[in-house]
Amino acid sequence: MRKNLVIAIDGYSSCGKSTLAKALAKKLGFIYIDSGAMYRAVTLYFIRNHVNMNDDEAVKDALQHIELNFHSRDYESHITLNGEEVSEEIRLMPVSENVSAVSANKLVRKEMVKQQQRMGKSKNIVMDGRDIGTKVFEDAQVKLFMTADPKIRAERRFNEMKSKGDTTTTLEEVFENIAHRDYADTTRAESPLTRAEDAIILDNTDITQQEQLDFALEKVKPYLPVIS
Ligand code: C5P
Repeated sequence: MRKNLVIAIDGYSSCGKSTLAKALAKKLGFIYIDSGAMYRAVTLYFIRNHVNMNDDEAVKDALQHIELNFHSRDYESHITLNGEEVSEEIRLMPVSENVSAVSANKLVRKEMVKQQQRMGKSKNIVMDGRDIGTKVFEDAQVKLFMTADPKIRAERRFNEMKSKGDTTTTLEEVFENIAHRDYADTTRAESPLTRAEDAIILDNTDITQQEQLDFALEKVKPYLPVIS
């Protein structure tokens, strides 16, 4: 039985997993780990260095040259790739368009899962992704599986990108990318996105961020001495 508390949040692309995960971590004083950012940073490295995904030796070699680190500021997680802050660049379309292919690679997954399991070995954490409840922490005490209407998800992501200064990507492109990643993530051979049997479904199409936080806190409550 693990002594630290792990909250695993899985679900489709852009359905607010990180918003909820951050809010939970802040409320509970836990560490937040965005596993998607890790796959995105690896993808950025592969793009920049023209790594051939079909060449296992090239992939292994590349993975040995990648060092990822998280830095938390006000519960906004920042990731560095070999010491360079890449948090913004990994959200842009070139990475979004390639990340599902890179994350389907078994060597990439093996390395990321190893690093994620190390991060959650002894500390209380909230981790979001696609395989957290099914693979990385099968023994997580609380598992949430998030979903929302694809159109709403695309609008939310589009507005978020716009507010960060991306004026070139259209709503249609965002919608297509989300649909493509959902398909790729649920149908891949290695750890496809699927709901763990013991995961609680949270559909946030019609609820506010506060309502989803309250819902999740209710599920975590039995495992905590006190939530103020
Ligand atoms: O969470 P985010 O949308 O940033 O993740 C980007 C991509 O990384 C996903 O579409 C998926 O292909 C991959 N991913 C994964 N396993 C995780 C987290 C993300 O395969 N645990």
